[in-house]
Amino acid sequence: MKPAPFRYRRPASLEEALTLLAGEPGAKVLAGGQSLVPLLNMRLASPETLVDLGGVPGLDTISVDEGGVRVGAMVRHADLLADAAVGAAQPLIPLALSHVAHATIRNLGTTVGSIVHADAAAEMPAVLCLLGGSVEATSVRGTRTVPASQLYAGPLESTLAADEVATSAWFPALGAGEGVGFAEIARRHGDYAMVGVAAHVAPDAVRLGYLSVDDTPTVVDVTGREPEAAEVALAHLDPADDIHATADYRAHLVRVLTGRVLAAAKEMARDRTA
Ligand code: FAD
Repeated sequence: MKPAPFRYRRPASLEEALTLLAGEPGAKVLAGGQSLVPLLNMRLASPETLVDLGGVPGLDTISVDEGGVRVGAMVRHADLLADAAVGAAQPLIPLALSHVAHATIRNLGTTVGSIVHADAAAEMPAVLCLLGGSVEATSVRGTRTVPASQLYAGPLESTLAADEVATSAWFPALGAGEGVGFAEIARRHGDYAMVGVAAHVAPDAVRLGYLSVDDTPTVVDVTGREPEAAEVALAHLDPADDIHATADYRAHLVRVLTGRVLAAAKEMARDRTA
């Protein structure tokens, strides 16, 4: 199918992009296009104007310091995955990113675009929520920091205003004595997961992040209850039936994967303490 007609804008600065978005209520940001363009082609979205961030300078930067990793809006999944400093600072980023789609899609799709797109089956929203990261959102009204815990309103729905651009996402670095793990089951590698689980083990807290189980990414604190972590998590989750898996099968995957990622994260934490 072909998309409904739309106006295409390619601003040369962030200010110009923000002005366009504020002035045209039917406008939508275009980043890598790997989620939006299929929606346009299927006519599940029909914005009057697309504001392409591809010509805005300064949005394709990755910066790493001892506090964490900041990822600019136009950083492609593939570039983030290939950055060794990113993996050294926060190993959960490459662990999860290697499961995002296929190489061709990772070459174009942006990690910030995935975070803002708010697909509960996507890996990076769950990772951002689990680690307690945030998104920097800018509009003509100014800039604000949105904690990941306040970013998701529902399926495919973020809390950003229509005229806000997410200029970057920030992931905290992994601390001493901390470990992470990630696992998912998909029909084929690169497909969206039927269930995915991420774990973050710190000396004083153990938390799990779930994707593809509920309407939004879900984080569950299992500190002190690790032996029954999967049952604790399932009490917070509402797995559903769909064409890919039954609710019972999803609950089974939650049990199996929770055990695996917790073991992996604990092992990493032990290694980083020694
Ligand atoms: P776009 O498609 O350009 O935009 C997506 C949405 O986010 C739009 O609503 C747009 O307006 C908004 N948006 C984007 N950037 C910004 C911004 N900076 N500020 C404000 N709004 C913004 N993803 C996974 O996580 N896991 C998978 O397994 C997976 N498999 C895929 C398989 C296929 C076949 C395809 C086509 C895609 C798959 N994806 C998967 C999606 C892919 O990761 C996309 O790249 C990503 O979801 C969106 O990033 P994008 O840059 O392409 O955003």
